Amino acid sequence: MRAYNFCAGPAALPTAVLEKAQAEMLDWHGKGLSIMEMSHRSKDYVAVAEKAEADLRKLMNIPENYKVLFLQGGASLQFSAIPLNLLGKNDKADYIHTGIWSEKALKEAQRYGDIHVVNAGIQIDGKHAISAQSEWDLSADAAYVHYADNETIGGLQFASIPETDKPLVCDYSSSILSAPLDVSKFGLIYAGAQKNIGPAGLTLVIIREDLLDQAKPEIPSILKYSDQAKNGSMVNTPSTYAWYLSGLVFEWLLENGGVDAMHQTNLEKAKLLYGYIDSSDFYANPIVEANRSIMNVPFTLANADLEKQFLQEAEANHLLNLAGHRSVGGMRASIYNAVPLEGVQALVNFMDDFAKRNG
Ligand SMILES: *Cc1c(COP(=O)(O)O)cnc(C)c1O
Repeated sequence: MRAYNFCAGPAALPTAVLEKAQAEMLDWHGKGLSIMEMSHRSKDYVAVAEKAEADLRKLMNIPENYKVLFLQGGASLQFSAIPLNLLGKNDKADYIHTGIWSEKALKEAQRYGDIHVVNAGIQIDGKHAISAQSEWDLSADAAYVHYADNETIGGLQFASIPETDKPLVCDYSSSILSAPLDVSKFGLIYAGAQKNIGPAGLTLVIIREDLLDQAKPEIPSILKYSDQAKNGSMVNTPSTYAWYLSGLVFEWLLENGGVDAMHQTNLEKAKLLYGYIDSSDFYANPIVEANRSIMNVPFTLANADLEKQFLQEAEANHLLNLAGHRSVGGMRASIYNAVPLEGVQALVNFMDDFAKRNG
């Protein structure tokens, strides 16, 4: 049987998608070979790649004047690729710091430009929060403003999109496709696929076309967005299987009501889990309500000595990967699109039973 998987990444995939991939594995569409064994330049593969892009454009309402790139290297390589692509004419950028991922992004960027850090992580009554934009000292002359919509490890998410007349660059690795998004507000959106899209090995970049001519001359061509855009993300061999499988996930999303329907279910899932945690004296979540992530829910047990037992019993109940990130400890339930409401209900039932037996 398939368990409920709360892993932060690589994360749960829809069972229907895995079944389709399984059915097509040995003989893709009667061609006598697996999609993994095809040339990325073949007509069949290019059609798969283009359909994935068209479906993503539909799902996210991506305007015509944006390019969609299917790259490799994870979000972490984008931490370097972004400044190398965007700081060629003006080397100043603002980075909003709210946690571990936005910090990693700014540390890489500091090697390539004059990076102004805005510390927006604050505490309100002992809980983590993101400060109001009125508190930020954004620069007048930045080439772009970077932030991470959802801090996957901390479980801290922006309540709204920052307002700026500079190009906004956002790490959406753990929240892309979880809620409707107005892409036209951004200069660039990027996301590793392995959280809320598909398997590891694929990284999405959605970039407004007028930003394609700002690269530093020394940039490797494989990282250069304009080269990748000109070559259909095939400057070299792309991650063909991850791209194909992500395409199956986009089809699954479209068949299941798209991003709006996912968002409604995601809100229900988050409400159920946070609601239970708040009603309990045994569990606690360290984030103010306005900045609680709807995708990654960290929580602690009243008695930290019970963590190991909690994880063991959860696993025996087919509830997997609930340990918090190694840097922060505690527990974390990642409730991405592929985790159904029933999975979160099963988790809450288990948590309640565990608390009654150990509280
Ligand atoms: C997981 C994650 C990353 C790192 O992704 P890789 O693909 O492993 O490089 C970066 N940012 C956020 C917000 C993440 O959740």
